Amino acid sequence: MDFELTTEQLNMQQMAREYVEKEVIPVAAEYDEKEEMPVDLVRRMISQGFSTISVPENYGGAGMDDLTLCLVIEELGRGCAGIATGVGANSLATLPIILAGNEEQKNKYLSDICCGKLASFCLTEPNAGSDVSAIATTAIKEGSEYVINGNKCFITNGTYADYYVVFAVINPKKGARSLTPFIVEKGTAGLDATRKERKMGIRASNTAEVTFNDVRIPEENLLGKENGGFRVAMETFDISRPMIAALAVGLARAAYEAARQYAKERVQFGRPIIQQQAIQFMLADMAIEIEAARSLYLKAAGMVGKGSKSLSAYSAMAKAYAGDMVMRVTVDALQVLGGYGYTREYPLEKYMRDAKIMQIYEGTNQIQRLIIANSIISGRI
Ligand SMILES: Cc1cc2nc3c(=O)[nH]c(=O)nc-3n(C[C@H](O)[C@H](O)[C@H](O)COP(=O)(O)OP(=O)(O)OC[C@H]3O[C@@H](n4cnc5c(N)ncnc54)[C@H](O)[C@@H]3O)c2cc1C
Repeated sequence: MDFELTTEQLNMQQMAREYVEKEVIPVAAEYDEKEEMPVDLVRRMISQGFSTISVPENYGGAGMDDLTLCLVIEELGRGCAGIATGVGANSLATLPIILAGNEEQKNKYLSDICCGKLASFCLTEPNAGSDVSAIATTAIKEGSEYVINGNKCFITNGTYADYYVVFAVINPKKGARSLTPFIVEKGTAGLDATRKERKMGIRASNTAEVTFNDVRIPEENLLGKENGGFRVAMETFDISRPMIAALAVGLARAAYEAARQYAKERVQFGRPIIQQQAIQFMLADMAIEIEAARSLYLKAAGMVGKGSKSLSAYSAMAKAYAGDMVMRVTVDALQVLGGYGYTREYPLEKYMRDAKIMQIYEGTNQIQRLIIANSIISGRI
């Protein structure tokens, strides 16, 4: 595969890098400490195209490919994994609209989102995490409306979303076979998203419980076809998992760069610690793993939209490898700083806390391995 980036991609990467240096890095520690999402900044970033560059131009996006979006997300991840999660969750929520929405829905919702509206992807429930087939939220048709009842948990941007892409079963007897995606607009009676999670990491992102109590929506808000939700959700993840991998690579880079800098400056036993082979090998391993994870996400993102039967497996590989990689890299990078790494004076402890989620959300890394194994068994890879 040719990983040579085009001039356009290099320009986007550079633009994102400069923006992150100026707008994201200076506020990252503050919002982490406050456990608050910088809502205005995230909306600004969305309206400037950070989450929508792969949305087709006729709906207000930049019409670029998913690989370019991943390059941008890597830069955001280097700045703050929490803020990047808020921006990335918007991309996640636009995917079902791109994949299943009709012209009218795309014109209305994608255009709004490209102008800075926030969206949430609502799949997970208290009893349906890895096991999507256990989803219990219902959307029952009554005349020309659907009535939604149920609880969604761990929903990124949940408190602030303008639009919720909600997966619900339309026939409880059929369960997940009748899973169907809908759009619910903020302010609809019976919708509540006030309970926020307090988290270990990515504290500059918002994670909320979203509850639906007799929420009535018009039938026009159904995305795609009745019973088509499972497929839409899985196709969404095939595209979004390389983005998580890119985010993890960005975060790992931030930790590696901080460790490298510190190792050059910190003198012990009369010389900078970077002259100790033990430190050099840790840095070398970090560099190897970051490069490997980047190659995997570039490969997976490059496969999107090309009809490849092995996309699910490669997206899962990119996400699982990058998620495990960022955990190892942030732990080692903190080790390079010794006791100082453990303090809040340096960002390493934040990086390590932020890294853990990369093994959990958008399907845990155990689930990614199941997907890869299924592809091996069925001969798709
Ligand atoms: C900060 C945050 C943000 C999130 N954002 C969103 C969002 O925006 N939208 C959304 O819909 N969801 C979101 N999620 C939910 C996330 O995707 C789930 O937490 C994740 O899929 C795992 O589900 P669970 O937490 O219920 O764990 P469980 O499914 O209960 O898993 C618990 C453990 O068992 C393992 N396990 C489960 N089944 C198997 C199996 N068959 N084989 C091997 N191991 C298994 C898992 O790997 C894990 O280690 C978010 C979660 C967090 C924490």
